[in-house]
Amino acid sequence: YPVESIRNFSIIAHVDHGKSTLADRLLEITGTIAKTHHNKQVLDKLQVERERGITVKAQSASLFYSHEGANYLLNLIDTPGHVDFSYEVSRSLSACQGVLLVVDANEGIQAQTVANFYLAFEAQLAIIPVINKIDLKNADPERVEKQIEKLFDIPIDECVRISAKQGTNVEKVLQKVIEKIPPPQCNTADPLKALVFDSTFDHYRGVIANIALFGGEIQKGHKVVSAHTKKRYEVNEVGILTPNEQPTHKLYAGQVGYLIAGMKEVTEAQIGDTLFLYKQPVEPLPGFKSAKPMVFAGMYPVDQTEYNNLKSALERLTLNDSSVTVHRDSSLALGAGWRLGFLGLLHMEVFNQRLEQEYNMSVIVTAPTVPYKAVLSSAKLIKDRRAVQKDMLYIDERRVILKYLFPLNEIVVDFYDALKSLSSGYASFDYEDAGYQAADLIKMDILLNGNPVEELATIIHNDKAYATGKFLCERLKDAIPRQLFEIAIQAAIGKKIIARETLKAYRKNVVAKCYGGDITRRMKLLKRQAEGKKLMRKIGNVEVPRDAFIRVLKRQ
Ligand code: GDP
Ligand code: MG
Repeated sequence: YPVESIRNFSIIAHVDHGKSTLADRLLEITGTIAKTHHNKQVLDKLQVERERGITVKAQSASLFYSHEGANYLLNLIDTPGHVDFSYEVSRSLSACQGVLLVVDANEGIQAQTVANFYLAFEAQLAIIPVINKIDLKNADPERVEKQIEKLFDIPIDECVRISAKQGTNVEKVLQKVIEKIPPPQCNTADPLKALVFDSTFDHYRGVIANIALFGGEIQKGHKVVSAHTKKRYEVNEVGILTPNEQPTHKLYAGQVGYLIAGMKEVTEAQIGDTLFLYKQPVEPLPGFKSAKPMVFAGMYPVDQTEYNNLKSALERLTLNDSSVTVHRDSSLALGAGWRLGFLGLLHMEVFNQRLEQEYNMSVIVTAPTVPYKAVLSSAKLIKDRRAVQKDMLYIDERRVILKYLFPLNEIVVDFYDALKSLSSGYASFDYEDAGYQAADLIKMDILLNGNPVEELATIIHNDKAYATGKFLCERLKDAIPRQLFEIAIQAAIGKKIIARETLKAYRKNVVAKCYGGDITRRMKLLKRQAEGKKLMRKIGNVEVPRDAFIRVLKRQ
């Protein structure tokens, strides 16, 4: 495939507007996957993606397409839509010359439609608007096209109306891709220049790097050097994703594919790195801005003997999710662990779930916090969250974009859920960093029978301490099962107690009740209790379920 017949593009959109479904149809039309009734979001391969029904990881696939006698090699990257995973989108765009901007014909332009449009626009990519779900009875493609014209300055006649679900007009999308998206500008005769834009760690084969070739060619046996580490490797395998790894003889300039080159250590594969041929150095590509974490939490092994296993699991998973920052940390109560930075609470939940599902790790996670700068001395809905309105822009008579300045900690935990329920699902939300500002903040502890719960210690605005303290105590009372003794649940600022709840002792003894009865039933109960205990964390003499902390912190 000569460079002129290659097209590299991403599918971007707001959550649920149909990116992954459109990818399914494109894979089917090009014969990349068999057409069956069961193809649903096939590029969402991770267990967490299938369970939650959302894409969290960008995924590439190469397609072969013939049109009017010419053969094309298309490389598509399906991306996540949620704001917490926008780092995946921006990295994917570095391997592309164009995007399909998918917009739901019923919902119209939403917050991540705007955010993703600007990512593509700033990267100077060709943008093809695709109006999806025209089969819905409330679909209003005309209105959406007007929004696109008004907000993005793209002429209405450039939009393609489709139903990804039913396959209507999907072929037209492919024709637009060929017409409107330019082929990559690079040359096979140049020296090798390959951008590592993603990586996974495979238990048997080590690091698998996703690469985009900006020059030259690469094949098994070549010696390549990492611009970042200066280390040299021999290439074991190259290939394309269809969407599973399929080895090929070579990869050429303009192509997107994968490479395996005996990198056994996770630290050897840097995302954003440039690879070149041994003794043929090139100017490295600019790489990526590092992600800016918004939410921080401590992470500790449930059992300290698991420390090293958790460490290597963390390294491998962060290789595949480079937006997570990891620093060593330790705590009196929890032992040695890490402080992790995430792009949002959903990101944090997904990361924990992946650790459990893909690496079989069980961990203790402390309450999420946002970064503050502290100066130590010697000693709607919207008002309630300390926001200041900045801007307002009408997209049409029914949609408006509001811009507010918020303290970050007011939005990280549950703002999105609250906004969705208040607006019956109509409002959507995106955010970016606006810097630090001075505020009247204090540290509040939560105590169980006088022992501080490290996971729940928070920095909070003075005006909100009493209400939040009371709320946390009430919530915690519901989240902790009764135990054999009374438990005092208190909120404290320094030595001062500002709220209290009491959890009464429980009297019945499950085991005693059936003692002397059926022995297998008794064993079963004891086993269940032992399993339950593993998921408990002991604070003083009080046992707290591990998931209690996140449950307590969600407001509804
Ligand atoms: P993504 O988050 O953008 O990847 O969206 P998905 O592809 O996961 O689709 C979200 C939901 O919209 C799924 O339930 C799809 O079945 C549904 N969907 C996608 N395309 C269409 C369409 O053309 N028509 C209808 N009615 N539903 C669609
Ligand atoms: Mg998706």
